[in-house]
Amino acid sequence: MWPVAGLLSIGEAQQLILAHARPLPAEPVPIEAAAGRVLAQGARAAVDLPPFPSSAMDGFAVRAADTPGRLPVVARIPAGAPAAGLLEPGQAMGIATGGVVPDGADAVIPIEYVVESGNEIEIQRAAETGDHVRPRGGDIRAGEVVAEAGTALTPARLGALAAAGIAEVHCVRRPRAAVVPTGTELRRPGEALGPGQIYESNGLILTAQLQAEGADVDVDPAVGDNEEAHRAALERALEADLVVTSGGVSVGPHDLVRRVEAELGVEEVFWRVAVKPGKPIAFGVREGTLVFGLPGNPVSALVGFELFVAPAVRALLGVPDPLPSFERGRLAGTRRRNAERDELLRARLRGSEDGAVLEPLGGQESHMIARAADADALVFVPRGEGELADGAAVEYLRLG
Ligand code: AMP
Ligand code: MG
Repeated sequence: MWPVAGLLSIGEAQQLILAHARPLPAEPVPIEAAAGRVLAQGARAAVDLPPFPSSAMDGFAVRAADTPGRLPVVARIPAGAPAAGLLEPGQAMGIATGGVVPDGADAVIPIEYVVESGNEIEIQRAAETGDHVRPRGGDIRAGEVVAEAGTALTPARLGALAAAGIAEVHCVRRPRAAVVPTGTELRRPGEALGPGQIYESNGLILTAQLQAEGADVDVDPAVGDNEEAHRAALERALEADLVVTSGGVSVGPHDLVRRVEAELGVEEVFWRVAVKPGKPIAFGVREGTLVFGLPGNPVSALVGFELFVAPAVRALLGVPDPLPSFERGRLAGTRRRNAERDELLRARLRGSEDGAVLEPLGGQESHMIARAADADALVFVPRGEGELADGAAVEYLRLG
């Protein structure tokens, strides 16, 4: 455990987390099932793309040297047909977009540019060699890398794999995550609230965040603040690759998470980070399992996830730069800095002539999830004295 005085910085905490987050093993995945997955091995093109010189237009394959001029049309080439015979000098062949440009031809004249009469065309303009011909391998060549290890499979990337003839890829196994919200006061939406009770929201927030990062999630109903309930839920949760609890990591007598986890063999790596919101975050490990204790206030959980849990999920997936990527913008209005903790303000992001402008939302308290839901960015306000001026350069993290 770390001394209270020397709270870890966000960066130090992130480094400790990454030091424990090794990529999970790979498994073969058919590309139809690979959307959003991360490659464990680079994938190489099985064929040239295009696999043959193909026409970019509906038109006529010719020799550029024969243009302008009148040419007989000696064949018609639809898409999907094998290559026609050799195109002799002085000949044209009709060709569809995607048709195989015949040997001997070096240009395609779009249909709009010819006058067709019977089996003859008149080409009024001179064509240049290569016009409207997509050369074989012009996009990528067989054996070249379509996607490197660590690449997330976006729709475009999946399309590239398919086009290059790759049917199966090796992806990192999806991390299995267990979410355990704690708090005797928590009820499910839809249930009636008794005295002192509130609705549980972290389970849903964290599940959605984990899924967005590519994890399979198992979420528990809220666990009451007693040791037996904690033990039962945590024992099961610790089977996962990643455990994310919420609540119960502060200093109150009902904050049981860290104690019960220690009994279950979790070695605490750190507790408390100089960040606002979310200071009492805890991180530990048990064998290969990463164990995050996020504070219970929903905004603390939300922010803590973005700063600490999301990078861990990305590291388990083998993403090369797993840390959050902050962008640069300007602050709208002034903001007093917190002397001891770096702060992440919930803000609206808007464009302007000189770049991104961040407008902090009213209602920055960590229980104010309804206010925070309007935010599309977290603005980083470094700890220190004084205030940030209106228009000050700041870094911000986009929220999904
Ligand atoms: P804790 O970190 O357990 O001390 O909780 C801090 C605050 O967050 C308390 O007001 C809790 O009632 C509230 N809280 C804890 N867990 C949740 C949750 N899952 N959903 C909504 N609020 C919560
Ligand atoms: Mg609690």
